[in-house]
Amino acid sequence: MTLWPSGARWDRRTAEQLSTEQDAALRSQLEHAVGPSSPFWSARLAELGPTPASLGSAAALAGLPAVGERDLCPDGDPLGAAGLVLHQGEAGYATHASGPALRRALLRRIVAPTSYRAVVEADTRPTSYVFAGLALRYPVASTRADLDLVARAGARLWQVLGLTSADVVVSALPSGSTALVQGLWLAALSSGSPLLAPGDDPVQVLDVLSLVAATALVVPPAGGGDLLRQLADAGAPLSGLRTVLVGGAPDDRERDDLLDAVDGLGGRDVVVLAVHVPDGHRLLWGECRESAGRTGLHSYPDLELLQTVDPGTGDPAGGAPAELVLTQLGLRGSALLRWRTGDAVTAVDSRPCPACGRTVPRVTGTRRGALVPTVVLDGAARPVDLRAVAAVLSTRADVADWAVERGAGGAGLLVRVRAAGGGPDDLASAVAGALRSRAGVPGAQVVLVDRLAGGRGLSPDLWQAR
Ligand SMILES: [Zn+2]
Repeated sequence: MTLWPSGARWDRRTAEQLSTEQDAALRSQLEHAVGPSSPFWSARLAELGPTPASLGSAAALAGLPAVGERDLCPDGDPLGAAGLVLHQGEAGYATHASGPALRRALLRRIVAPTSYRAVVEADTRPTSYVFAGLALRYPVASTRADLDLVARAGARLWQVLGLTSADVVVSALPSGSTALVQGLWLAALSSGSPLLAPGDDPVQVLDVLSLVAATALVVPPAGGGDLLRQLADAGAPLSGLRTVLVGGAPDDRERDDLLDAVDGLGGRDVVVLAVHVPDGHRLLWGECRESAGRTGLHSYPDLELLQTVDPGTGDPAGGAPAELVLTQLGLRGSALLRWRTGDAVTAVDSRPCPACGRTVPRVTGTRRGALVPTVVLDGAARPVDLRAVAAVLSTRADVADWAVERGAGGAGLLVRVRAAGGGPDDLASAVAGALRSRAGVPGAQVVLVDRLAGGRGLSPDLWQAR
């Protein structure tokens, strides 16, 4: 059981306790990690004005413009992601490490001089990378201490999912260097569960299932139902199966298909639960077993702060759905602050879970990567970062108003623009050029209009439907 300083369980804190402790963790992250040591954020805060100390509450932080992958890599070069990696040498560590960590390191220096450096490096030196990205592909760095933290969160994930060390987990996710794959390994490791991950080839999965009596099977959201049917048809030994974990929040259609496939296994009591890690993040959220997947993804309030923004304007969002924005508390390596995840969500619900009673914030109605839909442009299906499109259009002085929707027949991107005057004669082609160079979107159809009939901004069809 994980205990907080005052002794209450991590998932049973009151709203007041959570808020106080979250703000303290946020201040520490801002003043001792991201503020002084993130090249991207130290430059951005200097440009925008607020000091790290002035942002040390959830309410104050909500006023800071959120950023996504295109803000980090404006020209599409993934090298920009290095700007989030904290730069802390031994001097920076002594200045910014927490009291207990520094005392531990200094004690080590007395008894074994070389181990001081080992402790500093474990806490500050990126040694492990996964790849993320919705429209780009960029590396995300972890220190040794980060991996410890991901593993500890993984042990909590197992509690939420209702798994124990007696569970045997087989993962049919594509093998790859992703936060989801790494997080599952670390969760299983810290919980003492065997995890076998043969990759996503059904033949290999079948081979492994005939070697071990799996109690939990991890499948991708898209095609997971078909895989289950295929395995059942092939006579895979699934009689011990009690949990199907969906690696990535499924949409309603995918979940229905998975439930249907589980039904087809023949009257066994198998629960379908999602495990999700937002793009760029490293902690895995899970749905509680008690809810059977009906009350949303359970988060870790001491390790992250969840907020939402309007995806078109980037302003704090009151309505739903909205884009999920994430601030990591305690992770180093690549440290996310006000990070636009690209996930559309219905809400971040801070009321106790009606199924399990945990008081951790739950993310409901997650549509993974919805803000970066796939659109056919120039004859090829491409991910389009709608946030980058909105940013290009909103920041042009020669554009008074704009609307973006799918083109005729659902193909392509139609951008309607009302000119503000003072722009180039060929405003339409100037806007199309800016979308290509600054948002990485080629082949958008830009038309000038005298007035915008219908909706403004990003059409809901682009990102709310799925
Ligand atoms: Zn719950």
